[in-house]
Amino acid sequence: MTPAISIRNLTKSYEDTIALSGVDITIGDGEFFGLLGPNGAGKTTTINILTGLVRKNEGDTEIFGRDTVTDYRFTRSQVGISAQEFTQDWFFPLDRLLYFQAGYYGIPKEKAKDRVEELLSKLGLVAKRKARLRQLSGGMKRRFQIAKALVHDPKIIILDEPTAGVDVELRHELWDYFRELHKKGKTILLTTHYIEEAEMLCDKVAIIDKGRVIKEGTPKELTSQLGKAGITINVSDPGEELESCLKNFTYTQEDGRIHFTTREPEEALPDIINALTRHGCHIQRVVTTKSSLEDVFLSLTGKGINE
Ligand code: ADP
Repeated sequence: MTPAISIRNLTKSYEDTIALSGVDITIGDGEFFGLLGPNGAGKTTTINILTGLVRKNEGDTEIFGRDTVTDYRFTRSQVGISAQEFTQDWFFPLDRLLYFQAGYYGIPKEKAKDRVEELLSKLGLVAKRKARLRQLSGGMKRRFQIAKALVHDPKIIILDEPTAGVDVELRHELWDYFRELHKKGKTILLTTHYIEEAEMLCDKVAIIDKGRVIKEGTPKELTSQLGKAGITINVSDPGEELESCLKNFTYTQEDGRIHFTTREPEEALPDIINALTRHGCHIQRVVTTKSSLEDVFLSLTGKGINE
């Protein structure tokens, strides 16, 4: 199947800064994909090239198999982008700005009306429809930015740091909305330096640092590769037949403490508890350890993502 987004060997330099040095990313249709990296890693440059705002040096960028430079009109029509920086539409009320956006994409008036009303309501902007952008809080501006990206009902949604600077409550509301869009079959490319955001939302994550993708996979694949995951269980009376009852697990034992090595602690836990209780062990304490994408980033680069 043709991928929604395909980026191959993308390079970009700004005067004396190398922003991208050979980025490869493939995003399947309907995938929720996270581009995770620290500030300055090259996330915004990548999506700005994809949407025609920045000119690449070398490489190929395609949307649904069509080149984003030579087939700009088609490829741009497939994408809605919520940029990191707020736009400069300071002088018109929000609803007018959304109607302008609909007009820009050639959406007929009646359809535009339905769409604008739906988005104002979905993003909690109805009460602010006559406000000017400059009168809004950061969180409200962010909601507007997202509404604007969605006016033409694009198949691909690019969200550049969509929850930067918003409070925790709104962040969770926005996450729910992104999940809803994903469920409807939209392809979503999200850039973030919030580890939790990538872990909570994305099917697949590419970790980008210094203009290069250094690792890619599902959050589970990436974290389980570190081998730090496990379960430690304290039991009061391990008994002598423990060995035979735990023969299906990898573990070490020290006095009353059994440490299980497993890549998926949450999945293995019920079976382990079952085996132990069937054997008559009294479980006193269970501790599971799991790695996060932050650990993955640290192990790959030697530094934290927000350092
Ligand atoms: P991110 O989105 O991951 O924070 P960017 O793509 O914005 O990263 O930036 C990548 C690198 O390119 C950084 O070193 C940044 O300073 C540089 N850069 C980005 N835009 C410009 C520009 N317009 N002029 C000069 N350097 C830039």
